[in-house]
Amino acid sequence: MKQLKMTDNKFDKVLPDVVHTIRAATALAAQDINFYRSLDSQLAKSIDSSGNSLLDLTNKLLETSSSSLDEVEPIPFGKDNLPWKNVVDMLDFLYEKVDTLLDQASSSKQAGDQFTYLEDGTQDARAPSKAIPKPQLDFHTKVDNSESHPFKPKISSKPNALVPFEDSTNLVPGNEEDEEPPHYEHPYEFEIDNQPYPDEILLEKEPIEPESWNNTGAIWVDTIPKLHEMVKSLQSSTEIAVDLEHHDYRTYYGLVCLMQISNRKKDWIVDTLKLRGDLEILNVVFTDPKIVKVFHGAFMDIIWLQRDLGLYVVSLFDTYHASKKLGFPKFSLAYLLETFANFKTSKKYQLADWRARPLSSPMMSYARSDTHFLLNIYDQLRNKLINKGEGRLQEVLYESRQVSKRRFEYTKFRPSRASGGNVVCPVMSSNPKEPFTNLMAQYRIPYHKKPLVQALYEWRDNLAKVEDESVRFIMPNQLLVSLCLLESPVDSQKILGSSNYISDSVRVNSKELATMIQSILEDMDENDWDLVDKLSNTVGNDSAFINEDELDPNTIKMATKAFDNLNSKLRELEYYDSNSDLLNNDSSLLSDILNKQEDQFSVEYNIASNSLIKHSIGETKERIESLLEHFNKVKDVGIAAQTSTEEPQESLQILSTENATEESPDTSSSTLAPASVKVDELITLRKKNTINNISRNKVDAPTEESFDYANADKIMLDAKKTKSRKDNSKKRSFDPYANTGDGPQSAKKSKRVNNGKTSTFSSKRK
Ligand code: AMP
Ligand code: MN
Ligand code: ZN
Repeated sequence: MKQLKMTDNKFDKVLPDVVHTIRAATALAAQDINFYRSLDSQLAKSIDSSGNSLLDLTNKLLETSSSSLDEVEPIPFGKDNLPWKNVVDMLDFLYEKVDTLLDQASSSKQAGDQFTYLEDGTQDARAPSKAIPKPQLDFHTKVDNSESHPFKPKISSKPNALVPFEDSTNLVPGNEEDEEPPHYEHPYEFEIDNQPYPDEILLEKEPIEPESWNNTGAIWVDTIPKLHEMVKSLQSSTEIAVDLEHHDYRTYYGLVCLMQISNRKKDWIVDTLKLRGDLEILNVVFTDPKIVKVFHGAFMDIIWLQRDLGLYVVSLFDTYHASKKLGFPKFSLAYLLETFANFKTSKKYQLADWRARPLSSPMMSYARSDTHFLLNIYDQLRNKLINKGEGRLQEVLYESRQVSKRRFEYTKFRPSRASGGNVVCPVMSSNPKEPFTNLMAQYRIPYHKKPLVQALYEWRDNLAKVEDESVRFIMPNQLLVSLCLLESPVDSQKILGSSNYISDSVRVNSKELATMIQSILEDMDENDWDLVDKLSNTVGNDSAFINEDELDPNTIKMATKAFDNLNSKLRELEYYDSNSDLLNNDSSLLSDILNKQEDQFSVEYNIASNSLIKHSIGETKERIESLLEHFNKVKDVGIAAQTSTEEPQESLQILSTENATEESPDTSSSTLAPASVKVDELITLRKKNTINNISRNKVDAPTEESFDYANADKIMLDAKKTKSRKDNSKKRSFDPYANTGDGPQSAKKSKRVNNGKTSTFSSKRK
């Protein structure tokens, strides 16, 4: 902004030039420059040199304007895909800055500005993570990533118990028949359900004004004596506000870095890294039903509290659920702060590295603002809920209770039965046995790459656990995808050149990875798969025809694989609807789309643009159906061939092993949720409904009748009947190598790779 500070005079001079330039550029854009350029080499030269000097200027502008952004890469000349994101980021940044400055300027002029502003530091909130030593190294009890047992509640006593401690931490044995893993009970489940909230919560009351923001500060709690002092003070409160800050990049499960607590008089910020092992004492307050705990959007806080600190919450009031019940236009804390506390916050610090110590002053302010006003907001929301009547307040209390009962569990011990979304695991793939299939759908990795994806996924997961790092740190998704697309022969050089970002872990282990990838590629027999792709194309064509006489076991094998291939496409399309808990009817975000569409479609949520992209799947389905129809002919003949050869048995085997289930997307990173939308709002899929076409049956879902491979011969026989009825006139040869071009295409190699921030949801209308 400094550079743009000019006198009014200078603006008057520059503005007409800018307008002129924009006009000229717009006019030029309407011309077919490339055409003229190819006609005239002199013109081409001049275009190139003008282009270069314009880019130079643009880069200079970028550089000067973005001094407080992360470093900006200059835009290279002559590239097809210019990194416009840099420009967009910079413009966003400038607009935001201008907005803030205008706000501040106009408010300082107007007497009695109604807003308070969060102090906005000049320092980059996203400090480089690598510079911070890992706090895990100082933990007294080391982080256990082994997943060798179910998650055991970290409590040694149980204050405010209705059910005594000894009876609350039992190991509930698993059930092998149902594949139900064992788990430890939620130690406070009974209390959460049965302890009454204080009676006063139901009574309208004049809101209590918060202490002045500017005249107070937070108390930093990083020693046991300070902790005890805080607990003493909290015990005499009837309601407290709580929030957490969390880090999830340089750790496998995540780390609670800060706990902000406010009562009516004071704000505390607890160093939960330093006091990690000492905070159980807070259960005295947190589980006391007479002290209401106000959180905003506690759905992850509840998980983090029990996972890291052994803390549980009885008498929770979640202002997020209050916001929903009151039908506010937005459900974010920022909205509540602005509307009910006249406080303008900034998102800048939401993604800051909260492991940093000491915290900078703006970070302290940001953290404090998350709870400082919350009790007053609670007062106001409670009054509104009471006035609106019809049990709304009670409903919010009910929802809050459900949130408090959420339980953390290790991925390996995730219950098989859906437990109402109340169990949260680090990896929440809907397909626990093959969690990487979500990634395959998201990036549209061809199905035959599955063994490679699986190996890389498992390699990454294992290393992340051993080194206590996030899988994103070890190998971001887009790097994993790049590695999957490497072609044989693969060596470590090829690994290092596979993507423009190579993580440290991949660099260090490039040799090992190269050996692994190469050996899997050899096993995968790529050539065979090329044939299969062609076969799918042929079979999809109406003119395709099967010549029984020419059908050999190899063709059957290929046809079988083609079936798998199309089956996988189908899964891609219907990936997430089979467990019916992804998108919910009353999801505020999606209800419009979900309820209005006649057609089946898939919905892609793009976090970068915070928007939904819809794809119709009708057409693809049609293709698949026609492919299936033709494939039934192949199988039909296949059965005949099977009786006369020995090998086809094996090829049918291939069919029957591929019946995994795909459901909701990988929600392992709660970070998928944008600031104002909580993950549990996004993730609950509307009820599944049967589709009246044959392809529906091919997607295996545990709750639905799935395609029964064991009885596949019945379908084949049916197809045979049909065939014998109509098909006895002419025979054309079946050519698996034919590529007619208008059949279904094989799965796209990869989708635009964008930081792993896009997740794909799919749904359909009832
Ligand atoms: P909050 O409840 O807003 O204070 O957020 C608590 C923690 O959740 C933060 O410290 C972040 O780790 C994480 N978080 C919040 N919002 C986002 C977001 N939009 N994207 C990713 N992580 C977030
Ligand atoms: Mn929070
Ligand atoms: Zn917060």
